[in-house]
Amino acid sequence: MIRFDNSYLRDLPGTYLRLAPETAPAPRLLAWNAALAAELGLEPEVRAHAAAWFSGADPVPGADPAALAYAGHQFGGFSPQLGDGRAHLLGEVLDGQGRRWDIQLKGSGRTPFSRGGDGKAAVGPMLREYLISEAMAALGIPTTRSLAVVATGETVWRDGAALPGAVLARVAASHIRVGTFQFFAARGEADKLRALVDYTIARHYPQLAPGDGLGLFDAVLRTQAKLIAQWMGVGFVHGVMNTDNMALSGETIDYGPCAFMEAYAPGTVFSSIDRQGRYAYGNQPLILGWNLARLAECLLPFFDADEERAVALANDRLGAIAGIYREAFLAVMAAKLGLAAPEAGLVDDLLALMPGQDWTLFFRGLGEGRTAAPEFAAWVERWRALSPDLAAMQAVNPAVIPRNHLVEAALQAASAGDMAPFEALLAEVRRPFAPATGREGFALPAPEGFGRYVTFC
Ligand code: AMP
Ligand code: MG
Ligand code: MG
Repeated sequence: MIRFDNSYLRDLPGTYLRLAPETAPAPRLLAWNAALAAELGLEPEVRAHAAAWFSGADPVPGADPAALAYAGHQFGGFSPQLGDGRAHLLGEVLDGQGRRWDIQLKGSGRTPFSRGGDGKAAVGPMLREYLISEAMAALGIPTTRSLAVVATGETVWRDGAALPGAVLARVAASHIRVGTFQFFAARGEADKLRALVDYTIARHYPQLAPGDGLGLFDAVLRTQAKLIAQWMGVGFVHGVMNTDNMALSGETIDYGPCAFMEAYAPGTVFSSIDRQGRYAYGNQPLILGWNLARLAECLLPFFDADEERAVALANDRLGAIAGIYREAFLAVMAAKLGLAAPEAGLVDDLLALMPGQDWTLFFRGLGEGRTAAPEFAAWVERWRALSPDLAAMQAVNPAVIPRNHLVEAALQAASAGDMAPFEALLAEVRRPFAPATGREGFALPAPEGFGRYVTFC
């Protein structure tokens, strides 16, 4: 049995629809995260039922599944009703330390929020989320986790191609999104918005008083600025930073066409649907500010009862975002450079030299005392003069990230029934800071012939 304790359903009536996942004809467990199951305190018998329970084939005893309502700006345009169109919240569990976690199925069938969609997901994208989220966790970056991927035995159609279907079971601090606030704000449902503010405070920022929307905004601003700075530090490109994919918890959520930048280029885009480069690597800090402005619009009534004062407070906060992000980014870069204090000029000058350099290998090499290209000589002299701590650098600069060509090969093999490349890659990205020695094939960038990497979701 999984012991569920469903606070969201209890405290936020009218913000979700209760309904069961669709069943899967021939469930087969592709990936099981034993370490995460142990952290959650799940009983060993859960593993034995994993294929049936985490695919929708059998109802999970004690679960009270629901699809949550939310809205969101997608590529800048507002959709008043998105919601869980292919996901079911099974419920919440408390781990050994009393922390509360959502367990959610993704790809588990249609819901009233599905719009035109089939409610399904394919093996490739679900394994991508599993792999990348586990890599992010190992890199020390706040993220939802992946508990299981189950192949459903169904065929899913994407752009005329027949793909094997799958369901991902993921674990999140919550599924409260900027878009959740937008849903109720857009409908003028003040009572539900107030309940959501109080619920979010109690669940994620309990140091704040109920109704303290300004405190909530400030807390989310800080946690999100830190998160995006961490993404930038490892070259992570989320790919779909829509407001429905930004979590109030500060976790990375909704892995779609995400990938890691190899050669440094601020304009790096992988997603096939991001034609304007709105969510390019270098734009992510700007989108952070844009999305937070949308959250501020929802929280305005909680900033101050007087509208003019509320707007003044919001403008004050929005004006501060760039500086708060910059501070978070410089802290990340100071750690990457082994420095005790931020060095803005040094970082800016380095970034000016970086285009074309492999982002990951550069910082790892610097810490391992490998000399950079000749054009870096003067910069390296300045950096060395600051007495960097090279040992500390090994703990923050990964030797191994999920390299695009390896991710692609692993997902293709898995879709064809061979899980071995996926398992091998997963094992390596789970220990990113260990030396590359003996596993050089996982540390090197894609070979020339791999070409430009394009991801689909
Ligand atoms: P995403 O791009 O995954 O963040 O999803 C955006 C919205 O589209 C959410 O409301 C999803 O639930 C919905 N959605 C994505 N894929 C599907 C699908 N295959 N069937 C139904 N809804 C979907
Ligand atoms: Mg989403
Ligand atoms: Mg999604």
